[in-house]
Amino acid sequence: MIFYSTKTASIKASAEEAIFNSLPADNGLYMPENIPTLSPDFIANIENRTFNEIAIEITHTLFGGEITRSEIEIIINKAYDFDAPIRQINEQDYVLELFHGPSMAFKDFGARFMAAIMSHYLLRSKKEINILVATSGDTGGAVAQGFFQIPGISITILYPSGKVSDIQEKQLTTLGHNVTAVEVDGTFDDCQKLVKEAFLDAELNARFNLASANSINIARLIPQSFYYFSAYAQLKKLGKPIVFAVPSGNFGNLSAGLLAYKMGLPVAHFVAATNLNNAVPRYLESGNYEPRTSIETVSNAMDVGNPSNFVRLQRFFEDDWKLVAEKISGYYFDDEQTKSAMREVSEQAGYVMCPHTAVAYKGLEAYRKKDTSDFTGVFLSTAHPAKFIDLVEETLEKEIEIPERLKSLLSIEKVSTKMDASFRDLKLLLMNTLK
Ligand SMILES: *Cc1c(COP(=O)(O)O)cnc(C)c1O
Repeated sequence: MIFYSTKTASIKASAEEAIFNSLPADNGLYMPENIPTLSPDFIANIENRTFNEIAIEITHTLFGGEITRSEIEIIINKAYDFDAPIRQINEQDYVLELFHGPSMAFKDFGARFMAAIMSHYLLRSKKEINILVATSGDTGGAVAQGFFQIPGISITILYPSGKVSDIQEKQLTTLGHNVTAVEVDGTFDDCQKLVKEAFLDAELNARFNLASANSINIARLIPQSFYYFSAYAQLKKLGKPIVFAVPSGNFGNLSAGLLAYKMGLPVAHFVAATNLNNAVPRYLESGNYEPRTSIETVSNAMDVGNPSNFVRLQRFFEDDWKLVAEKISGYYFDDEQTKSAMREVSEQAGYVMCPHTAVAYKGLEAYRKKDTSDFTGVFLSTAHPAKFIDLVEETLEKEIEIPERLKSLLSIEKVSTKMDASFRDLKLLLMNTLK
């Protein structure tokens, strides 16, 4: 499969190059040049397939020219020992639970696939790489778990000291082995700046094979299309059109839904649901895109002022706003609306949601007011509520259960390297620890 840069169509890359470069040299985004569709026969019988069988078929359709089917089976079965179940919430609406992976957030789907496919290429080329990544919380846990003990890959995660939740910090700092956690005395932006400086440093690049696990990497985007197909497989028997509501920050999740649609998945409509960081809903309304600096909300994994996948979202529709707005409706909600949705669903359906999931639920509810046709609504649940336990318990005024996977982390001692937000210090550390 060939990728091109959204900034310069003549800049092309193979899948392997796109995965290891993350970004094209002109700072655009990689997009597939042609999007192949799944065979109609496969989609007609998809309800009989497991999650992994669906993932194998999609990966084969996209990467079949470069990786054999049996290699793809190994990659997928290494990546996924968890799936994406659907639960009914009310008469017409379902939640797609994307938090059954190791870090209990949907980013596991991208991170695990990325680790498995990189490992496939590295075994072939006999190379070793060092991944550097900055995290504001959820990405770090998914990437750390995804790359844990993968041969040929070491991973260094920078996170802002005191600015991630307890559980999130433990997910980064308790693995050890090939995972190094660097606790930076600064903000997430400082961490991101330090990582960027490292990628630009000639001496570090000459000595080490550096790579990024950035969320815009196509190896994180593509596997997120798997669960849209899986949701369809689980709901196909109802025989109704399906609308997906996606809680969005950088819009990787929604872009993956659009990729699934372009690959032939029958999707009636998408709902882009955000918190008050609402650049995309406002664009869908007016056609004008005005990014802003981000503001803090209770759904903090979606506090993004200028979403990095916005260019992709438009490109799926040939940059034609009318076509984008025909297929996607945007809604945004403040913290009070988010919290009252958490209470409402807890009381009415006995179902506890994280704040991001609540934003998606609200988006679906708002869309139902506009489109009164008979459709099945699916809102995506991007994280387990226990990852945001303080907010969830305070909002619902009750205790919630912490899954064993998270609880056991809390008693393990964290191991991190503390550092000022200084590139000189980071460079020294990398010089001493990387291979
Ligand atoms: C990252 C994240 C999001 C936002 O996903 P995007 O692909 O960036 O739009 C939503 N919810 C949770 C819990 C997340 O961690």
